[in-house]
Amino acid sequence: MKIAIIGGGISAFAAAISAAKNNDVTILEKNSKVLKKLLLTGNGKCNYFNTDQDISHYHTNSDIDIKEIVNSENIDKVKAFWAYLGIVPFIKNGYYYPYSETASSMKEALVFKAKYSGVNIITDCDITNIVKENDKFHITSDNYQDTFDKVIIATGSYAYPITGSTGFGYDVAKSFGHTINNVNPSLVQLVTNLGIEAKWNGVRHHAIITDLNTKKSEEGEIQLTSFGISGICVFNLSRDIAIGLSKSIKESVSINFAPWCNDMLDFLNKRSINFPKRSIMSLCESFINYKLLSAILKFLKISEDSTWNELNTQEQENLAQALTNFQIEIVGTKDYNSSQVCSGGLNLAEINLNTLESKKVPNLYFCGEVLDLDGDCGGYNITIAILTGILAGESC
Ligand SMILES: Cc1cc2nc3c(=O)[nH]c(=O)nc-3n(C[C@H](O)[C@H](O)[C@H](O)COP(=O)(O)OP(=O)(O)OC[C@H]3O[C@@H](n4cnc5c(N)ncnc54)[C@H](O)[C@@H]3O)c2cc1C
Repeated sequence: MKIAIIGGGISAFAAAISAAKNNDVTILEKNSKVLKKLLLTGNGKCNYFNTDQDISHYHTNSDIDIKEIVNSENIDKVKAFWAYLGIVPFIKNGYYYPYSETASSMKEALVFKAKYSGVNIITDCDITNIVKENDKFHITSDNYQDTFDKVIIATGSYAYPITGSTGFGYDVAKSFGHTINNVNPSLVQLVTNLGIEAKWNGVRHHAIITDLNTKKSEEGEIQLTSFGISGICVFNLSRDIAIGLSKSIKESVSINFAPWCNDMLDFLNKRSINFPKRSIMSLCESFINYKLLSAILKFLKISEDSTWNELNTQEQENLAQALTNFQIEIVGTKDYNSSQVCSGGLNLAEINLNTLESKKVPNLYFCGEVLDLDGDCGGYNITIAILTGILAGESC
């Protein structure tokens, strides 16, 4: 069988390597080089897998049981795939990286195996049209045209369009009668409008952050920026928040900057007895970053030079609350240019979850981020790309 894979990203390579055993496979990539996004993953180190494969790390808005696709049998296929490629893992707190700690080594392994398996890779080929006539798919770009028996759409989502993923797969799916479930940025920075962002810009602080609508909490390093908040713990809450904002739901988070402290008011009262003359800044500087504290005091309209005892009861309670339960409204998210992935995509109920073949159009397959399937930070999205690529490729 002659198979075209549209897109030369991570899922495409898993599909191509899996399909090449029995078929004549061609990858068609619009960029001059394949796997552009892969090189950016994990800050250039590529976090490709995670020990913790709890199903709660995977998400879809489609009306299916997600375990039909993300299950231990398919996760084992992903592990076997990386072993087949010869990747030696470096595992840090359950996060898998190649031992070389370079994403380029993952690219090398994928490209080598694809070429070794006989996959034809064509770059600078921006596919603009796919039509099916007489059981054959006719594929065209400005500089290319050919006819195939089967097509796998592996064009990604809208996330990080600079890498080539600009949503083409959604258009193809729609042109073949499929539904695209609402697409939103995910694993993305959150925007606030507190008037103190310039003051806390650049601070990194260990905290617990809680989505006040879903009550979901994440603990880790929060990055305070000139526009709002960022960091892995923020990214992992951003999916639900972006979806809520798209429906005009008010979104807020609570940040606990001192998870070690059960009762901040009591703690500060006792501390001020030991250090009665210290200003608030001096009293708190050993447990909270001074730039962050300065921003919080500005927000609360409390003078940095006041001592604890000079504050009135309300001000004391406000400060204790802000340090452990700082409730802030999220007014937006950064856009697709900054989001690592997208939530939403091709409705999974419209494809066969064992083969990833369209239920509407025989011999048309989808894999990777074009699907309505996304994961948390921590290697889960590359796992989805590889898992779905393998299923689509194997079933060809
Ligand atoms: C900065 C960043 C860091 C990330 N870090 C991690 C991480 O550490 N771990 C993790 O699990 N996930 C990470 N991700 C997410 C992960 O990279 C993606 O989920 C994954 O790449 C999706 O794979 P894909 O094959 O579906 O799409 P992509 O890898 O985006 O590939 C799609 C390809 O299709 C091509 N294409 C699109 N339209 C056309 C067309 N019309 N014609 C021809 N070609 C076309 C594009 O140029 C692109 O090369 C990160 C993402 C970003 C942006």
